[in-house]
Amino acid sequence: MRKEPTKVDQVRLGQKIWAWNLCEQCLHGRICEKFGCDGKRAKNLTRYWTFHANAVIDYMSMTGKCLARSFELHETIFRAMGVLQEQPSLAREEVAERAGVKPAEVDLAVRLMTMIPCSYETGCFIIMEQGTNPIFWGPTTRFDQFLEQALPTVDTPIKLSAQQASALMARKLRKKIDFRIRPTNDLREHLRLDRGRRAILVFHHTAFLKEHLRLSKVLPPNSSVQDCLRLGAIPRQLALEYLDSIHKILFPLADRTSRRMLNDHIRNHAFDHDIIKFESASFRNPEERDCGYSYLGKQLKELLDEVEHPLPRGRVGKFIQRNSDSRHMMLATLAGVAFAILLGFLSLIVSSVQAWIAWQQWKHPVNN
Ligand SMILES: [Zn+2]
Repeated sequence: MRKEPTKVDQVRLGQKIWAWNLCEQCLHGRICEKFGCDGKRAKNLTRYWTFHANAVIDYMSMTGKCLARSFELHETIFRAMGVLQEQPSLAREEVAERAGVKPAEVDLAVRLMTMIPCSYETGCFIIMEQGTNPIFWGPTTRFDQFLEQALPTVDTPIKLSAQQASALMARKLRKKIDFRIRPTNDLREHLRLDRGRRAILVFHHTAFLKEHLRLSKVLPPNSSVQDCLRLGAIPRQLALEYLDSIHKILFPLADRTSRRMLNDHIRNHAFDHDIIKFESASFRNPEERDCGYSYLGKQLKELLDEVEHPLPRGRVGKFIQRNSDSRHMMLATLAGVAFAILLGFLSLIVSSVQAWIAWQQWKHPVNN
């Protein structure tokens, strides 16, 4: 059974996670009529609320608690969120202690805040949605260190040329390397190549990313990850890169086919409805138009490499690739030489026969 957050729950969650300013109507679950009230944006986050409901169900199933007690759980989670936001430099044990919660409740708070599944012990059997693989968060590792480990960057941010960006459009990837776009709810998985399923995973929760960017918009340029975390926001650079990779690389909204593909993904693969909306003034600062890719540097390089050197498809392609090492090349060369010798020998026999026939004709001319 799924229990989506009610409207009041949604705005309260928005207040806790993204520091929403709410009017009285929103706080009492009534229709919001106040211009500029953050509560109006709750309706943009439908896919996030579904994710939220599933994450709570995962936790309740794991701990064997009744879903009716999820309200109490939220109070606990809010306490953990508060401590994580106030002091991101605390180790997980310290967070649990200060908030007066269990380590697993800290995990859930982090999962709801960052959309990164984590576990306080290796091999923890959390019944999560298919494909979700929690990352280990050690008891003495600080929250900010944990996030830096979960979301690594490359030393030098990469910038794509117009030609490279065009080659990585989703519609071209489908044609050229037969990879399909598939959604993921795990922040770490964005642009990961799943070669087994011939899929490129896309973190599609653009409304969630935009909320984090609105929250950290006040920060001065080049603020640290810790500065973002103190506001309760995921790293600003990461959120900007993710949005750019969707709207400037995979699905440029100026391209009609890309827009059509996005609508198709919304309908058939439960992509966030917000993904089709292009807006930037409310969350992007003027100097953040083109910041390069440091969080996605590795993934973009891998994608470019896949496009330039696609792995073979089908049985014939895989057979050729399997047998294309130097040993097999030598064998193939030897087989070619042997075949050439055989052909030479056969042509020698044919020439001899022809010469014999010609000699016989000359020796025994036929007189008409
Ligand atoms: Zn309101």
